[in-house]
Amino acid sequence: MKIISDIQELRDHLRGQNRASFVPTMGNLHEGHLSLMRLARQHGDPVVASIFVNRLQFGPNEDFDSYPRTMQADIDKLEKEGVYILFAPTERDLYPQPQEYRVDPPQQLGDILEGEFRPGFFKGVCTVVLKLLSCVQPKVAVFGKKDYQQLMIIRQMAKQFALPVDIIPGETIRAEDGLALSSRNGYLSSTERAEAPELQKALREVRARVLELSERNVHSLSEIEKMAVNALAGRGWQPDYIAIRQQIDLAPASNESLQAGEPLVILTAAKLGKTRLIDNLEI
Ligand code: AMP
Repeated sequence: MKIISDIQELRDHLRGQNRASFVPTMGNLHEGHLSLMRLARQHGDPVVASIFVNRLQFGPNEDFDSYPRTMQADIDKLEKEGVYILFAPTERDLYPQPQEYRVDPPQQLGDILEGEFRPGFFKGVCTVVLKLLSCVQPKVAVFGKKDYQQLMIIRQMAKQFALPVDIIPGETIRAEDGLALSSRNGYLSSTERAEAPELQKALREVRARVLELSERNVHSLSEIEKMAVNALAGRGWQPDYIAIRQQIDLAPASNESLQAGEPLVILTAAKLGKTRLIDNLEI
């Protein structure tokens, strides 16, 4: 595997390749990331991965400085997956000048859910993803459904800018107890780690209630959301949101959309101690 930090050197190495597939990450790689590498291999060749902890998408009180950086272990994992190039730019490589041009996603997608609780997050994400796509110029790029809203926003960005790349979604990889794998799981204490699968269980409970609702009107959708938030809070979590949304545009689900059989998704973010976890479940 070639490890490249310089944009020009990356371009030189990829010259003439028009079938490359690309998986951007922030490193501290786990099976979720590696599943995306395998998916990328099915859709293009060579596979290019990137590792870059993108300051632009972190808020001032977030974990940019403490974000886990495990470069050597990551390199070993990517080697095993047969990744051809690891693009691992420094901040100076990727942002040699202050990144003053930014991509601002539309409010109705970028300022809801994660965007409401992490202002500017998706602006930072879109900006770095556009730049990375411009550096690598892949035929396909793979993103995980674990970050459901991010996947949707990047898809829309690629569409509206007519970027010559197909955005491919990868399924969420979970631990045996149901917890979605995440670099931030490493922050959890052992008691918190034992509690963490409750987030996915809460989503399953919401899904069961929503399916029940389509048969007989027991609770409204917003009551179901509130009950789930309260149940998690009762277990010591600090939930930011549990939201039942339409898959198509992440707009709030209504009884009409439920009756019409619109595909729905339940999204959640909640803090357990100091660790903020996100997850989602499609209906
Ligand atoms: P990150 O390093 O957290 O920025 O994630 C890089 C990519 O891996 C993103 O497309 C994520 O959605 C994806 N990803 C993170 N966790 C998982 C997981 N448990 N299963 C599948 N993909 C994941």
